[in-house]
Amino acid sequence: MTEKSPAASRSEGCLFCGIVAGDIPATVVRESESTLAFRDINPKAPQHILVIPKAHYADVAALAGTDPVLAGELLAAVAEVAAGAGLADGGYRVIFNTGPNAGQEVAHVHAHVLGGAPLGPMVCR
Ligand code: AMP
Ligand code: ZN
Repeated sequence: MTEKSPAASRSEGCLFCGIVAGDIPATVVRESESTLAFRDINPKAPQHILVIPKAHYADVAALAGTDPVLAGELLAAVAEVAAGAGLADGGYRVIFNTGPNAGQEVAHVHAHVLGGAPLGPMVCR
């Protein structure tokens, strides 16, 4: 089990902490002791799953800098979720939006796992 630092407890008002707590409904596709995966409410691809650590970290830099073991568990969960969704053979895209220039809307680190069809070029305007 990954030790949680004091900074990694539930963050009041955080949408994804609310999903972890069961206060906000979500379509969960995979759960481990330290991670949760659920379908994005506004999918951008035929398969669009979000994978998060249950502990609250604002973004991938905060997570990796504070708990690299948990960061590794999150990446392992991403691969398992993708395989479980049937995306391993065709391939998929993993995105961690981080900060304002990336348009990060929810300040609880999450991997977007996108696939199920050709995704096209990774266009950034
Ligand atoms: P980001 O812009 O990287 O912060 O992505 C946040 C993602 O959370 C968006 O793709 C939203 O569609 C998704 N989202 C927002 N609210 C919910 C919710 N209640 N359940 C599932 N996904 C959500
Ligand atoms: Zn949170």
